[in-house]
Amino acid sequence: MSFIRQAREFGYRAIPKRDPNFGANLDTSHGPVLYVEGITVSFDGFKALNDLNLYVDDGELRCIIGPNGAGKTTMMDVITGKTKPDAGTVYFGQQIDLLSLSEHQIARGGIGRKFQKPTVFEPLSVYENLELAIAGDKRVWSTLLKDLTGEQRDRIDEVLHQIGLPKHRHQLAGALSHGQKQWLEIGMLLMQSPRVLLVDEPVAGMTGEEVEHTAQLLTSLEGKHSVIVVEHDMAFVRSIARKVTVLHQGSVLAEGTMDQVQNNPKVVEVYLGE
Ligand code: ADP
Ligand code: MG
Repeated sequence: MSFIRQAREFGYRAIPKRDPNFGANLDTSHGPVLYVEGITVSFDGFKALNDLNLYVDDGELRCIIGPNGAGKTTMMDVITGKTKPDAGTVYFGQQIDLLSLSEHQIARGGIGRKFQKPTVFEPLSVYENLELAIAGDKRVWSTLLKDLTGEQRDRIDEVLHQIGLPKHRHQLAGALSHGQKQWLEIGMLLMQSPRVLLVDEPVAGMTGEEVEHTAQLLTSLEGKHSVIVVEHDMAFVRSIARKVTVLHQGSVLAEGTMDQVQNNPKVVEVYLGE
């Protein structure tokens, strides 16, 4: 039986949440924080996702790999509300039907997304970028003019340490290295204390040292947030991998430890055939 149907049998229903930050009080008593079931997305008849199932546990660090065109980005688009699927269900905890919510509501509700390109505010300092992120909406510049509460200042300090940039707090974001900008952007998402963080190809273009730091940063989030990382760099994935999901032609081809999936004949075939 599917997880969703099981959850419904236990008496859960999709209920609209009034609290915009509904992710903070999510019901995950049955384990998963995300239930993605039977998702199909067609573009002019071509199925970018084809009956995709994915269950991510609360606090889990999950890596998603798969050849180009496998549907990894489309899957993130569905979870974050950017693309509405033709079929399937997506639940956040047991009660929040994500398909009924807008992209903005989902972001406010606790699902943060890091796109490939960093979009920090270059003329502002690292600290100011984090300050702006408090508002959740990057366009709300007025937060910069307000006095921060002690709690907010503590949160910024905490995040500065998490992303490894405490010494750069007064530096302009535009003067940071590519890797540092990526960490700052992850920090801006962390300011929102997201329940789930989706990260698309975080180490593309990074130096070896930056890749290592990114691995430390992402693994340090485990237990505090659920993190879904899509990445091509296999050495990097191996260094952070717990459970790995392999997508191929819009469906899950294999799931397990890095060793299990790398030794799976179906996975070997798909990667050799690339
Ligand atoms: P991945 O991120 O795994 O490389 P994508 O999710 O970006 O794969 O794409 C999956 C497939 O869907 C690809 O074949 C891609 O060309 C196609 N696709 C993605 N977005 C669109 C779109 N907006 N219109 C048409 N085809 C798309
Ligand atoms: Mg992609």
